[in-house]
This record gives sequence, C-alpha cells and structure tokens, in this order.
Amino acid sequence: MTAESTATPPSSFDDGAFLKLGLSPALAAAVSALGYEEPTDIQREAIPPLLAGRDVLGQAATGTGKTAAFALPLLQRIGSSDDGAQKIRGLILVPTRELAMQVAEAVHKYGRPLAIRVLPIYGGQAMQQQLRALKRGVDVVVATPGRALDHIRRGTLALDAVQMLVLDEADEMLDMGFAEDLEAILSAVPAERQTALFSATMASAIRTIASRHLREPVRVTIAREHLAQGETPRVREVAYIVQRRHKVAALARVLDMEAPTSIIVFCRTRTEVDELTETLGGRGYRAEALHGGLSQEQRDRVMRRFRDGASELLVATDVAARGLDIEHVSHVVNFDVPQSPDAYIHRIGRTGRAGREGIAVTLAEAREHRLLRNIEQATKRKISIESVPTVHDLRTRRLELTRSSLEELLVSGKLDSYRGVVEALADQYDVLDVAAAAVKLADEASDGGEREAEEEIPNAAPPRRDERPSRATRSRNEGAREGREERPSRSERPRGERPRGERGKARRRDGADVTRLYVALGRKAGVRPADLVGAIANEAGIDSRDIGAIEITDRFSLVEVPDDAADDIIRALSGTTIRGKRVAARRDRAGA
Ligand code: AMP
Repeated sequence: MTAESTATPPSSFDDGAFLKLGLSPALAAAVSALGYEEPTDIQREAIPPLLAGRDVLGQAATGTGKTAAFALPLLQRIGSSDDGAQKIRGLILVPTRELAMQVAEAVHKYGRPLAIRVLPIYGGQAMQQQLRALKRGVDVVVATPGRALDHIRRGTLALDAVQMLVLDEADEMLDMGFAEDLEAILSAVPAERQTALFSATMASAIRTIASRHLREPVRVTIAREHLAQGETPRVREVAYIVQRRHKVAALARVLDMEAPTSIIVFCRTRTEVDELTETLGGRGYRAEALHGGLSQEQRDRVMRRFRDGASELLVATDVAARGLDIEHVSHVVNFDVPQSPDAYIHRIGRTGRAGREGIAVTLAEAREHRLLRNIEQATKRKISIESVPTVHDLRTRRLELTRSSLEELLVSGKLDSYRGVVEALADQYDVLDVAAAAVKLADEASDGGEREAEEEIPNAAPPRRDERPSRATRSRNEGAREGREERPSRSERPRGERPRGERGKARRRDGADVTRLYVALGRKAGVRPADLVGAIANEAGIDSRDIGAIEITDRFSLVEVPDDAADDIIRALSGTTIRGKRVAARRDRAGA
C-alpha cells in the first residue's frame, strides 16, 4: 500500500458544518465537543427545515444520527429555560422505556449549554418520582405513550405550552398497539405546535397519521445511492453482530485471525477514536488515532509511523480518512455500522483495489441490523453475517500460519545450524515428537503473549423487531403494551461515557460544589453511564442534570454529584441494585 501525507487538508474540522445548517454557536459547539466532525445525512436534511419551523416526515432507522436530527432543532426552537419558563415546551414520544432513557440522555447532552431540563417518563417507574420531577419544572419530556397518557388523564402533564412534538420510531409505536394513545396525546397538544415524525418505514398507517397531524411536512429520506456497475471493489464483506461491550474483544479477535498487513478501523466520533486507540494500545496493538482534532503536523507524524510500519493500524473518523491519500489497505473495519450507505461505500473503497481482494468487517449491534440491510439494498451487495471466530478458530488459524511459515523455511533451506540440535535430540526422542515440540514453541511465540483473549465472544441475535409482527401478535401487544414498556433492554445501545476532558466541568447551574462518589461496580458488571444516571435520578430523586461527569473503569465507577445531595444519594443507592448487583457507594477518597 502507499500512504502519503495529505496534499489537501480535510475541510471541516470545526463546528462550521453544524453552523451552516443554522444551528446556534452554543449547540454547534456542544456537538463538536462530543467529537462529531460533520452532520450525518439525516441531520443535514432534517435540521434546516425543522429550524425553519416546518413539520418534517422523516424516514430513518436507528443509528443514522436521527436523535440529534430532531433534538438539536427542538432545543434551539424552545430556547433556554433561563427566562423562567416553567412549562413543558418539547414533547418526544418513543416506543420503549430504554429509548426514553437514551433519548433523554441525548437531549440532556446536546442541551447542556442551554441548561435544558429533560425528564424521561415511562411505565414501570414509580409515579411519585415522576410527579416530583414534573413539579420542579421540566422543559422537555421524553415519554412512552402509555405513561404519557396516564399523566395527561390525571392532570399531571400539562402540554398546553408544547411548541414541538416529536414521534420517534412511530412505526414501532404503532406495532406495539399505541395508535389510540397517540391520537389522544396528539389532541392534547396545541394545534399550532410543530411536529416531526420519524419512522423506519413509511407504511400506510404512518402515512395516515402524517396526513392527519402534520402540516405540509417536508419529506426527508436517506437517499439510497447505487454504485455504478464495475465500480465495485473486490471486497469480502462480513458483519459480526455483537453487544457493544464485546466489540473491542471482537475487533481483537479479527485482528488476530486475519493478521492484516494494513488496516483502518473507522469510528463515528473523535472521542471514540481516542478511546479505542487507547484501549487497543493497552491490549498490545500498535494503533494510531487519526481525526479532525489533530494538527497537520500530528497527522503527518501518524501517517509516517503507519507507512514505516511503526504502527500497525489506524483508527480514524470518516472526515480524517477522507483527506488521506491511502491507496490500499488490506482490511477495513467498521467499529460501528456507518450512518449511511454512502459512508460505507467510501470506507470499503479503501480496500480491495489493484486486483487484490480486500476484507471489510463491520461490527454491528443487534439494533443496527436494519442499517446493514439498508446498506445491502443500496449497494446491491451481500454482507454476510457470520459468527465471531471462536478461540478454537483462532488456534486453528494460528497453527495454519505457523505451518506456512515452516513451509517457507523448509523451502528456503539454510537450516544447517539447527540440524545439529535435532540430531542430538533424535538420539533420545522420536523425530516426529522433536518436530512437534518445535512447532509448539513457534506457535506459542507467535500469539503475541498476552494478546489472546481466551473468552468466547457471544454473538448477539438481531432483535425481533426486524420481523414485522403478524396481526395476531399486534393485537396481543395491544393488551400488553404497558408490560412491553417495562421489559428490560431489547438491545444494547451505545451510551457515550462522558469524555474525560469534561471532567470537572460538571457544575450545577447554581454553581454549587460537586463531590465525586465511588461506586463499587464497573464495566465488568456491565454498568453503563445510563445505569448510574438512572439509579441516582430514580432512587435519590436527583435531577439527571445535576449529575456530572461519569467515569467507568473495569471494576468501579466515579460519578460527580452535588455535594449537598451526596449523603442522600449514598443512602438511597445502598438499598438498590444495578444490573442485578447490589450497589455499594461512598465518597471517593481522592475527592472531586
Ligand atoms: P441515533 O441514530 O440517533 O441512535 O445515533 C446513533 C449514534 O450516532 C449515536 O451514538 C450518536 O451519538 C452518534 N452520532 C449522531 N450524530 C453524529 C454525528 N454527526 N457524527 C458522529 N456521530 C454521531
């Protein structure tokens, strides 16, 4: 491969691309701080009309960046709460409790500079907590339809000031039997509000809702690009479906199996690039990060090391890689499914050139299955979903590699100085055994010592939601809809741990002190930021806005909370469980 340093530096490494969509400097800076380098397709298309006050009917699947596509305009349109507004001005309806938490967390993240108060409300959570939070004043509510309607009927959810309503995953809400609830909620919000409806499909029931409740909506669909015949590179395209927490192990397994000569791993954000590079470094891989946060000089240095073989893999964002003159790599790995078919094609176009077969591996979460299908439809190519190689596969593969190395040596000769050793041993041992022992030695030496993770990596099945329910299932769902809301996670979704750089910035709006809590559960227990936010907000009745930076290590977590609430939180947490494990929390001795 040839890898030259850039002739033309990539263009948008600041928040300019988001500003161009009409977003305020504060919001553009907020997404830039999250490591987003450029808007995704759905964001590029949906944000301007939403900012202009138009209704939008959007067709986009999860994983395309659609949450930001509606959340950013919503935040900008409803403005900050500093003017003393107490009323709910944004309402987002979502099908499940998981999604309610995730979307609320995203709105909180994007809305941080505007001091927006967001509250998820869903079935299964104690009503009292929701009532208390609602009383304190909330700007944006993210709710499942059943629970929203409960509150409306009790008179505890005042929607008369709602300026923007979002129906997220509307097809899913209908499939779950929420049609009537949606109608009732839609008639409880002011007629002059703005409405955005997002759905993965445009089934006729969705079109009916849209025609009844949206006003001259702008239709936004992720364009399906088709590659011209003959342009397609020779690439073997594979996807592994794994849970997020197994992705690094899966990537390591791919690296060990494939023994790639040159490889680029693509991530969505700068933050992810940095984190993954660090993690891979910790596992003994020589990885280099390449993203828009680097100076030209740093980029040149990274490329030089990659060219010289001082680093074996590049971890990059799309934008950073686009500016590079990299002719050919043997492997492209998508650490996440790319947000559009176009991005996928650009990425895999890096490999499989000049008559050689390249390999493109995509690590997808179960919930991203639909995105993979979209890509297949757009590219008219098959992505084969395979099982992550097992430990046994890895051993077999390594033996194969050792065997071919031995064959090369045998052909090249020059073994005279070693024959003496074999001859000496052959007096005492069977020659075959001597050879086998030598192979064992070579094999063990080739595994990179600690690299091999002995654990198996489970494959995550695609979610059931991809199979459209039959009529019978649908009506059963209607009866059980509140139950559905309470079901545990239907799939794992990435929840950005807050970047380290943000630590210490977590100040409450009133500037009160923060304290760091030590929670004796970490990644190994499956803990994610949302679990901690959820537990603290629910158990101690703390506004999630008041929870600051969260750091999760393998064995423990550190969470910044308001100093004056710390003792209450410790008490409340000690009676509860996270991911089925009892929580022990105390003030972190190192202090915040
Ligand atoms: P969603 O489709 O809203 O579930 O978003 C999928 C993932 O993409 C989330 O992890 C977001 O944080 C991330 N994301 C959203 N917009 C961007 C962007 N412009 N650049 C990079 N990542 C993004």
